[in-house]
Amino acid sequence: MSAAVAAQSAYTPGEQPQGGGWIKLNTNENPYPPSPLVVAAIQRELGGDGASLRLYPSPKSAPLRLAAARFHGTNVENVIVGNGSDDVLNLLARTFSDASRPVGMLDPSYSLYPVLSGLCAASVRRVPVSIEGDFDADAVAGCAANIFFLTNPNAPLGTAFSREKIESVLARFDGLLVVDEAYAPFANADTTGLLSEYPNLVITRTFSKAYALAGMRVGYALASAEVIAALDRVRDSYNLDRLAQVAGAAALEDTAYYERTIATIKATREATAAALQGRGWRVLPSQANFLMVSPPSERSISSAPAAAALFQFLKENKVLTRHFPQNPLTAPFLRVSIGNDAEMAVFLDIADKWVAAGGAAQLASVS
Ligand code: PMP
Repeated sequence: MSAAVAAQSAYTPGEQPQGGGWIKLNTNENPYPPSPLVVAAIQRELGGDGASLRLYPSPKSAPLRLAAARFHGTNVENVIVGNGSDDVLNLLARTFSDASRPVGMLDPSYSLYPVLSGLCAASVRRVPVSIEGDFDADAVAGCAANIFFLTNPNAPLGTAFSREKIESVLARFDGLLVVDEAYAPFANADTTGLLSEYPNLVITRTFSKAYALAGMRVGYALASAEVIAALDRVRDSYNLDRLAQVAGAAALEDTAYYERTIATIKATREATAAALQGRGWRVLPSQANFLMVSPPSERSISSAPAAAALFQFLKENKVLTRHFPQNPLTAPFLRVSIGNDAEMAVFLDIADKWVAAGGAAQLASVS
């Protein structure tokens, strides 16, 4: 085993239960199916007998990259696609970090970044995000990272940073700034408009959340032609299968469908936040398809043990959420993905039962 691998633990993904009956609010999947155009494109590609599967797919995913380029008003040389955006993040880490080229990230943010950096033997520079959702742009600019992962909207907090904030980092940071926009379709703004001005900007996107294709594994990055060409040296020659390529391209065609489902998810997000706030819960403002929520307690301060107990109670009732106890900022919260209205009603009902049974009050008296 290499020293870098020996020093590294594997990334822990959210739980994916295989049996039925669960309400899955733990990995920010979309509660609605993908566009019918996606289903038709997959069926067309498969044909009656699946004969197309005998043949290797387009090695550079040419039609999908063209579709993504058109969607963002850029050129095919500025797009690379991956087997989920995790694949693209992996390419970025492997291409631009090593033992003498540190990786930077916001803290808290996506816990895959340090795993990828560790595998490249790169050290990690962390810049804290406050609970109000701000960070010090000078700290990013001065952290001497060769590549910095900035999740916008932030995960797991849900906060979105303004375009001005991102620009203030870009103007001062010497390295490559990767804005991970996995959740940007749910936000009020994105950073894609800055690509033509800043050659050190990379934007990553996924089809897993807004496009309801987590099971297909498709993501992409937008960047300068030079950065894309460098990533292409590291990429597996056939990193996207035939079905994933046609599914992604078809999804980008159906803007009307996705505008509707995204608007519905945002409305459910706001209704759920209002319902919880009305019950005295703390809810962080979110521009993603999840909410960070913390139950009320006797002392009116949220606590990590309360969040852990609530997580367990919800799980016993077949509702999966996510708890991040490692970071003191996230420990008092549960991250709850936005499901459909019926799923959120079940979540609220079980959460109410826990509060009514004195869950938080009992804990407040012992903690
Ligand atoms: N970035 C962030 C911030 C995420 O939360 C996720 C999903 N866990 C990803 C990237 C990766 O998504 P995927 O590989 O499914 O495209």
